[in-house]
Amino acid sequence: MKGFEHIQQELEEMKQEGTFRELIPLESAQGSRVTIKGKDVIQLSSNNYLGLTSHPRMKDAAEKAIETYGVGTGSVRTIAGTLKMHEDFEEKLAKFKHTEAALVFQSGFTTNQGVLSSMLTNQDVVISDELNHASIIDGIRLTKAGRKIYKHVDVDSLEEKLKESAEYRTKLVVTDGVFSMDGDIAPLPEIVEVAEKYGALVMVDDAHASGVLGENGRGTVNHFGLDGRVHIQVGTLSKAVGVLGGYVATTQVLKDYLIHKGRPFLFSTSHPPAVTAACDAAVTVLLEEPELIDKLWENTEFFKEGLEKLGFDTGISKTPITPVMIGDDALTHKFSDELFNEGVFAQGIVFPTVPKGKARIRTIVTAEHSKEELQEALDAFQRAAKTLNIL
Ligand code: PMP
Repeated sequence: MKGFEHIQQELEEMKQEGTFRELIPLESAQGSRVTIKGKDVIQLSSNNYLGLTSHPRMKDAAEKAIETYGVGTGSVRTIAGTLKMHEDFEEKLAKFKHTEAALVFQSGFTTNQGVLSSMLTNQDVVISDELNHASIIDGIRLTKAGRKIYKHVDVDSLEEKLKESAEYRTKLVVTDGVFSMDGDIAPLPEIVEVAEKYGALVMVDDAHASGVLGENGRGTVNHFGLDGRVHIQVGTLSKAVGVLGGYVATTQVLKDYLIHKGRPFLFSTSHPPAVTAACDAAVTVLLEEPELIDKLWENTEFFKEGLEKLGFDTGISKTPITPVMIGDDALTHKFSDELFNEGVFAQGIVFPTVPKGKARIRTIVTAEHSKEELQEALDAFQRAAKTLNIL
């Protein structure tokens, strides 16, 4: 159609480069095994860390909420769309996170965007790790604050940026708790120390640590014993929690401010009752079924060790995100296709998501996988690698 020519051309270029991706629909519920293109395969690409997407207690809570409150809320939170259950859940989250207050947004993405875009002005500065998530980058793009980027997990580089920032009123250091492509953990104790030295606030995006790290999955701040020293913790309800949404766990002052100024919070309809009820039940599951987190870590160790024994390079990961480094973009896609033929769904991650030459298959095991399934997946990796002469 006329007017779309430049977009069409860009898509053609992507096809030629091999970066154009089709969406791959699941024909079953999310789980350790899924059906794709009519084939039963082991799922190694979801963020469903604890297998909560089909947890019976959460499904039950969601069903009851629909029965009682219907399927939607009909308004944004600030007009007529705040249900009592939204507020009860936020109170429960704050207690769980050991913070004064918590505020739920529609997604983790909009949480980062909403917090960063609203709380800083041109008198302030934000200092961000170079590998932070896209939602942090976009949030920063929306502020009028000064912007500085420090080298990935490099506290000396962060200190340099803090030194250069003396003239700003509020200095905000922002980092992912767990980095989504390599699975490495931010050196939070050192980050907090240097931030305290320069009077800076610290914000952590714990999307991949919520439900994974810390006591009962409270995240990286709790994992490192830093409760009370990190000012803003962002978490997601869409990954280990298994549902949808994001939240910020912070002070009552910032919560009150975000209710008035956080644009994605203000201008987008609130979560349906089923979503909030399921998320609420998920926090109960985290508190009452910690064996799920133990199983996630046991499975992670088993699978990582298995891959390394086979001779794969699993990078620098310290978490259930286990990259299998391949290098070349096209070969990575071929390997992913071959794994699918062998009964495993494990997506390739290539440029521009990761730098050229660092293409990888990104795997995430969950608490739901059995040892037999993980062994089956390891055997598939071995066969696929042999077919493509990778090892
Ligand atoms: N932060 C990080 C580090 C993430 O990986 C993601 C999800 N890709 C998000 C934020 C966004 O979370 P959500 O999916 O809940 O929008």
